[in-house]
Amino acid sequence: MSGLGRFAGRVLGVATIHGKERVIGPPLMKVLPLAGFTAVEGVDTDRFGAFSGEVQRKLDPMETCKAKAKHGAVASGLDLIIASEGSFGPYPPAPFISCDEEILVLYDARDGSFFHYCHVSLQTVFGGEACATWTQVRAFAERMKFPDHGLVIRSKEKWATGDAMKKGITEEGVLRQCAMQLMDQYGSCWVETDMRAMMNPTRMQVIAESAERFAQELASCCPQCDAIWFHITQALPGLPCELCGWPTESVRAYRRSCRSCNHSADVPRPDGKPKEDPQYCAQCNP
Ligand SMILES: [Zn+2]
Ligand SMILES: [Zn+2]
Repeated sequence: MSGLGRFAGRVLGVATIHGKERVIGPPLMKVLPLAGFTAVEGVDTDRFGAFSGEVQRKLDPMETCKAKAKHGAVASGLDLIIASEGSFGPYPPAPFISCDEEILVLYDARDGSFFHYCHVSLQTVFGGEACATWTQVRAFAERMKFPDHGLVIRSKEKWATGDAMKKGITEEGVLRQCAMQLMDQYGSCWVETDMRAMMNPTRMQVIAESAERFAQELASCCPQCDAIWFHITQALPGLPCELCGWPTESVRAYRRSCRSCNHSADVPRPDGKPKEDPQYCAQCNP
């Protein structure tokens, strides 16, 4: 079925146990003719991998996210499910800063289609540190915007079966008590950010932005065949230099493609920027 009509009157299930439906449901409701959305109860999405290391992710993030969405359909009996998956780590072009890659997958069980969106954000509160004193723990916590952002604490960086671990810490008293106990016992402790969305408002905000962009992508229909998700599949470099006109590496336009009829079209940058600053030009600033 083509066009936004495929969503008419349907209920969207959000496969999450971390409160993400609050930021994922509304933006999709705004642009798609859905009847409503609901968190899918009883989906233990942590079994697909937990940030705190008890469950290792076996698939890559995209495959994990698809598996979550499919599982959500089975668990809920709903035929339209969205799932999300976040990955955190050094930002490849500048490894000293951290980034958050959020993937969203929409699964339509009626025809087995998957639609996806990937968003990389440098807005992230993410980190971990081995600490030997309360002063160190306190300083790390402050840098990680505690207590607005929750923390996880355990004896060492790599968690092993049987190790004590406390997640979701948002009170200084609890943090102090856990830290003192571990430091007494082991001489040090490992403190890190709790990356579950409801514990990390910065991540929740990135998921909200990703959901808004994904909703826009889904609602873009192919000008040839009217299928949904006439989405960006390529960034085209070559924005001309302001000074010499030479094509730079910066994005000039985006290519949108239809997965149903293969039609594609190039669209200008959304910010309308016509020329690039000469500092990014290989001719002017080699
Ligand atoms: Zn130039
Ligand atoms: Zn098409």
